[in-house]
Amino acid sequence: MAKTISIAIDGPAGAGKSTIARRLAAELGYHYVDTGAIYRTVAYFFDLWGVSPKDIDGIRRYIDELNVAIEYDGEGVQHMLMNGMDVTDDIRTQEISQKASLISAHAIVREMLLDMQREVAQKHNVIMDGRDIGTVVLPKATVKIFLTASAEVRARRRTDELLAKGKKADYNTVLKEIQQRDYQDTHREVAPLKMCRDSVKLDTSDMDIDQVVAAMKDIIARKVSL
Ligand code: C5P
Repeated sequence: MAKTISIAIDGPAGAGKSTIARRLAAELGYHYVDTGAIYRTVAYFFDLWGVSPKDIDGIRRYIDELNVAIEYDGEGVQHMLMNGMDVTDDIRTQEISQKASLISAHAIVREMLLDMQREVAQKHNVIMDGRDIGTVVLPKATVKIFLTASAEVRARRRTDELLAKGKKADYNTVLKEIQQRDYQDTHREVAPLKMCRDSVKLDTSDMDIDQVVAAMKDIIARKVSL
């Protein structure tokens, strides 16, 4: 089997990972894998079952009832299936963001999801974004990029994004949620968010999307012929 190319993009919530990764994947013809959506699907499942994301006994009891799958539609858009049900849109709430951050701290949850992430990367050229892609999921990724921006800039972007979608959003609340998720994601014992030695750091605080895409292409082009 031909060796596939994998681009790992890690970084904190709201750094623009998914927007950028989706655009790059479309331009390069790679599969885009949004791993946050996988953790959100798990959080959504336990939410439906009324199990708190901190309740490890409850999670252990019901986790075998959950089947998570990724599917791509004809346009290459990733869909999340929870026990066969398409939950792609349902998992995009602030409440599920917080619950995903808490539930993803459990080793049992992370272990269950590891193989499915690696399998996509074995079959396809991928741009995969998350928190532990370069460190744990694909330690041998062809290119590793750590995308970040100040918490204030990320909160401003997220607030504008929500308002543009016609949703309610208050900057200070969004900032607090981002800071809380940053803390949880970097302080957990299993696969915490951290930059690995062989990744390239890109701070996007003062860059617009086109500039970030161009900078990412430069980084990728050092290792892969585009
Ligand atoms: O990227 P997104 O905001 O959708 O991720 C939701 C949550 O899932 C994150 O706050 C993080 O705790 C968790 N996550 C993770 N590992 C990944 C991707 C996401 O722990 N690879």
